[in-house]
Amino acid sequence: MARPIGRSGAPWRVGKSNVASVLRVLAQTHPNDRQISRRDIAKLTGLSSATVSKAVAELIERGFVREDPAQPTGTGRPVVPLRWSADHYVLLGVKIVDEDQLPGHLVGVVASLGGVILVGPITRRLDAARGERTDKRALVAAIASFVTELQSGFRASQQPLGVGVELGGHLDRGTVVLSVNLGWAQASSTWEELDTFDLQQELSSAIACDVIVHNDVNALAIRDLLYGGAGSANFLVCAVYNNGVGGGLVLDGRVRLGRDGGAGEIGHVKVDTSPEARKCRCEGLGHVEAYATPNAILNTLAVRDWDQAVMLPATDGHARQVFREAGVRLGLGIANAVTLNDPDKVIVYLPAGLAIPEVDKAAAAYWTEITATVEQEAFTGGRRTELEPRPLSPWELEREGAAAAAATVLYSLIEVLEQSAGSDEPSIEDIRAHAGLPVLSGMA
Ligand SMILES: [Zn+2]
Repeated sequence: MARPIGRSGAPWRVGKSNVASVLRVLAQTHPNDRQISRRDIAKLTGLSSATVSKAVAELIERGFVREDPAQPTGTGRPVVPLRWSADHYVLLGVKIVDEDQLPGHLVGVVASLGGVILVGPITRRLDAARGERTDKRALVAAIASFVTELQSGFRASQQPLGVGVELGGHLDRGTVVLSVNLGWAQASSTWEELDTFDLQQELSSAIACDVIVHNDVNALAIRDLLYGGAGSANFLVCAVYNNGVGGGLVLDGRVRLGRDGGAGEIGHVKVDTSPEARKCRCEGLGHVEAYATPNAILNTLAVRDWDQAVMLPATDGHARQVFREAGVRLGLGIANAVTLNDPDKVIVYLPAGLAIPEVDKAAAAYWTEITATVEQEAFTGGRRTELEPRPLSPWELEREGAAAAAATVLYSLIEVLEQSAGSDEPSIEDIRAHAGLPVLSGMA
């Protein structure tokens, strides 16, 4: 078995759940390279200042965090601000981008623990002649050599905390259950099959580093949860790609994967039960994905070029109707997800031309119908759920995906710390702090 992120190395001396809480707060309130004080960490985690000091001391020793010069406060002791350190650990992220229903190219970044892209995005095309697009072992070797290339930009003191890899598809703990995008595990697959193939395990062996593999939209959800400013602990992420729609689910501050990783798949919610329901790429009938993607819209419009499609005027009745229907179908899928999960907000990543375009364009009907449909069709929660469009060009979506893959590494460490924290004995001071009782000074 590969080493899951965070299980290797020296055992932690302080409570792992406390370290996890401090890491979460550092990421959520202070992404990038901003500073935070121990006092603020204590306030935000609910941990006592003595516990925070111990956890921070170990994080400094291990190279996660560093201290800045002390700042005078006027009264009392000066504050020593903390920030993420990029001197020791960095995060690597790789997105597998599909082309023509096979892996087409890799996009990679090196990111700081605070989520800042330090190197990249760098693109590497996969070589069909070498089997990198159709042979799983050749693909693994290509990703491994790409990771080596990314590492060549490291400073001598830097090492990867781990490598995050993401792709469009249904993943169960690193094994690809089905990826229509990559043509993986489909009956009509052109892949040279292997009976079982644990992508995460194979990559971990090939790269000799801790690797975590995630679905692309779950990775985006993880990034929004980790570095999104802690705006919400309950939200959905929906991403509209050229030929697919993906979803991610965050409840109570955790990304929810379900039994085998398929939770939150908005793209495969049934929204058309009529006899004319379109066939989805997954072979199902009437799914969101069959209506709401740029490719689906282009097919219905009989226009070849997407840039041309989003410029069609609002006076074009047929075009308006096509964009309208696509928006209604996606709106229904989102409304059903909102009813079931009662989130604060739904973040929708989508092509720039579909997010609040100029009102004189037919494409404006897409976003208008999404918001109207969610408001109308979702249960009471829908009226309070905020819809947040994140328009991105295809290139930006690839960059965000690679950065999200990098973020999954830190999230994975936090999860491992939380899950393995069972043996941690909470200190009396923490029990007092959680109960809202005063913490006695000097108690440790
Ligand atoms: Zn489907």
